[in-house]
Amino acid sequence: MGALIDGKAIAAGIREDVAKEVAALKSEHGFTPGLAVVLVGEDPASQIYVRNKGKMTEEAGMNSFTHRLPADATQDQVEALLETLNNDDSVDGILLQLPLPKHLDEASAIERISPNKDVDGLTEASAGRLSLGKKGIRPCTPAGCVILAKSALGDDLSGKNVVVIGRSILVGKPAALLFLEQNCTVTIAHSRTKDLGEVCRQADILVAAVGRPKMVPAEWVKPGACVIDVGINRIPAPEKGEGKTRVVGDVDFDACKDVAGQITPVPGSVGPMTIAGLLVNTVTAAKLRRGL
Ligand code: NDP
Repeated sequence: MGALIDGKAIAAGIREDVAKEVAALKSEHGFTPGLAVVLVGEDPASQIYVRNKGKMTEEAGMNSFTHRLPADATQDQVEALLETLNNDDSVDGILLQLPLPKHLDEASAIERISPNKDVDGLTEASAGRLSLGKKGIRPCTPAGCVILAKSALGDDLSGKNVVVIGRSILVGKPAALLFLEQNCTVTIAHSRTKDLGEVCRQADILVAAVGRPKMVPAEWVKPGACVIDVGINRIPAPEKGEGKTRVVGDVDFDACKDVAGQITPVPGSVGPMTIAGLLVNTVTAAKLRRGL
């Protein structure tokens, strides 16, 4: 069996480093970074994510502000709240929990977040900086994928063939750009890709960010490849009781673990890295805003 990539432990280490930096900022510069999370509606998964983010933010010694709006909130209400947070000096990072309820315009809301506080790295300004190779805040989940790959393969990823399945603005596209930044040779696959299995078999690092349970079979994995599974899919789990569910990734873990050189389990690898990345980005935003 390939080695498990323990994102949980790596994320815990990153959160410890963040806590040390937060303490130093407080004692040396007299401020505490603050993260504001905006949750619109009652989506159960989002509620859990928001609770976890708040808890981890506080555990790192930072200020956590959670703002909840009802599921029928208007676009104006959401954007007015974001504007207030942009102007709030105690807030260094703003995270708008996605997805928003269907009647809201997500892209327009994201654009209302000040790029200086865009800790999710999703505004046009952040995406532009990433694609131009300029310094800036990078999206948390894709940044976590690069850290996990480095933990498995070493810091120098130059020349590795990377295949990213998925081209979303949230994960696939920024992940591809971040691996390109590491001098990898990157292929982006998507729903129109022909012979996806053949494409995937070229990968030294295979990143699956699709949202389809266990879609990557063992035959798509080059022996010894590093497999990073971003997918979070809830499937029925009758073995746990009637109506129960469990979370699986986009990779058929049980089948692929024997072929891969290293592989991330789901849950518990990419997910924790996303939250750790959010805390790192909040500290970075807090420092940049104060010219540190
Ligand atoms: P999106 O639905 O936005 O994007 C999915 C991508 O997968 C699209 O680019 C789509 O292609 C592609 N795709 C769909 N079907 C196929 C197929 N049959 N073959 C190849 N490609 C396909 O999802 P996200 O990027 O937002 O999320 C992906 C997964 O990652 C989800 O399971 C999500 O829950 C999870 N996630 C996990 C996070 C974490 O912290 N671990 C954070 C964020 C997301 P096309 O563009 O052609 O339609």
